[in-house]
Amino acid sequence: MRTMQDLTNYNTFGVHATANSIRAFHNLEELKHLIKISKNQNFMVLGGGSNVLFTQNYSGVILKNAMKGIMVIGQTEEHVFVKVEAGENWHEFVLYAIQQGWCGIENLSLIPGTVGAAPMQNIGAYGVELEQVFEHLHALHIETGEMRRFSHAECNFAYRNSFFKQGGKGKYIITSVVFRLDLTPNFNTSYGAIESTLETWGVKELSLKIISDAVIYIRKSKLPDPAKLGNAGSFFKNPSIPQIKYQDLKERFPEMPAYELPNDEVKVPAAWLIEQAGWKGHRRGPIGVHAKQPLVLVNYGGGDGRKIKKLAEDIRLDILFKYDIDLEPEVNMI
Ligand SMILES: Cc1cc2nc3c(=O)[nH]c(=O)nc-3n(C[C@H](O)[C@H](O)[C@H](O)COP(=O)(O)OP(=O)(O)OC[C@H]3O[C@@H](n4cnc5c(N)ncnc54)[C@H](O)[C@@H]3O)c2cc1C
Repeated sequence: MRTMQDLTNYNTFGVHATANSIRAFHNLEELKHLIKISKNQNFMVLGGGSNVLFTQNYSGVILKNAMKGIMVIGQTEEHVFVKVEAGENWHEFVLYAIQQGWCGIENLSLIPGTVGAAPMQNIGAYGVELEQVFEHLHALHIETGEMRRFSHAECNFAYRNSFFKQGGKGKYIITSVVFRLDLTPNFNTSYGAIESTLETWGVKELSLKIISDAVIYIRKSKLPDPAKLGNAGSFFKNPSIPQIKYQDLKERFPEMPAYELPNDEVKVPAAWLIEQAGWKGHRRGPIGVHAKQPLVLVNYGGGDGRKIKKLAEDIRLDILFKYDIDLEPEVNMI
């Protein structure tokens, strides 16, 4: 009889699920070999497991990305081009870049997960998105075994979205990402509480390190640490709706906040909708909606992925009923 592998420690939600096996790959040859021997089974690549929800056991092989390496591949007067292997930890790469004096990703400090998964949903935080520093990436086409280079345009980046979550979903494994980082800083402190935090700290001179420290401090005060409380960050994306619909809603809900988008649309904070609908702090046994951050669903311990999915679906339907806005999950459900 086959021994199933426990995935509890392979997803930041900390939900229990099993896979037939978990195999790590450290380079392209190992990855190709694992795909070859897994051909007649399901398989999926996993990075840090910080954006997945296992809603059932996975009947297949988990390919765990352990490809490491950071290499400068080019430099101009203004930029450095850095190739990072997909299994590198994102936050460690950010800290390394700061140490080297490379600018552009300091606002993306403390986002969990791997470099290879970062382009999947074009990670973003505190006014910066990955696409702003993205040069190109290399990915393995699973079907043909061929490597392909994807330019910025080919990745089709959008808000928490890319080609790899659309047409390319399940077809490619990202093996490395090339970043174009600035050699002179262009600090971005306007978003969220960065400026007020720096002010409270009495910061007179900006640096990459101090901005990263402020972002880390704010994130720690707002978001639950997955090592202590199972979660996958924001469960839903912030929805975009047409201006005209927003004006209608605003008449019924004058407090509803929104951010203007260029295309006659506005973005409404999903956290506001969920809180107003009364879900903040809602608890169903071992799972619930975080008491401080309503966008985050949590597993207090022993929670079941299916039940978290059901909770998310109940929230989605409630928001649809109350506001006629359809929330889209950010987390990948397996
Ligand atoms: C506390 C917390 C805070 C967070 N904050 C943010 C935030 O501020 N901004 C933000 O954007 N996200 C945030 N996230 C979400 C998450 O950190 C990112 O989505 C991250 O990029 C996921 O990386 P990962 O390696 O853990 O991906 P995983 O969860 O392992 O995988 C996610 C998906 O990508 C696929 N995948 C993984 N690696 C590859 C690869 N090399 N090639 C192809 N497909 C791949 C997987 O199959 C899966 O479908 C947060 C999550 C947590 C837990």
